[in-house]
Amino acid sequence: MIQVSQQRERCIGCNACVEAAPHRWRISKKDGRCTLVGAKEKRGFYTINLPDFEKEENELAAKNCPVNIIWVKEL
Ligand code: SF4
Repeated sequence: MIQVSQQRERCIGCNACVEAAPHRWRISKKDGRCTLVGAKEKRGFYTINLPDFEKEENELAAKNCPVNIIWVKEL
């Protein structure tokens, strides 16, 4: 199991995470920032626990995010 987090308010809507993990990230039509699909918000940070098979693509999303607001950790 892994945990993916995002500090959404700092997102610049570049789409890099969507390209890396298209089933897990989506640009919002409302504000142009990306949404971590299924995540819960707490004090500005969106977090979700995911199965290991989503690890690689979300690590790539974290690596490619130009403002470094995505984190992946193993649980
Ligand atoms: S890669 Fe980072 S800045 Fe770009 S859309 Fe995703 S969270 Fe936002």
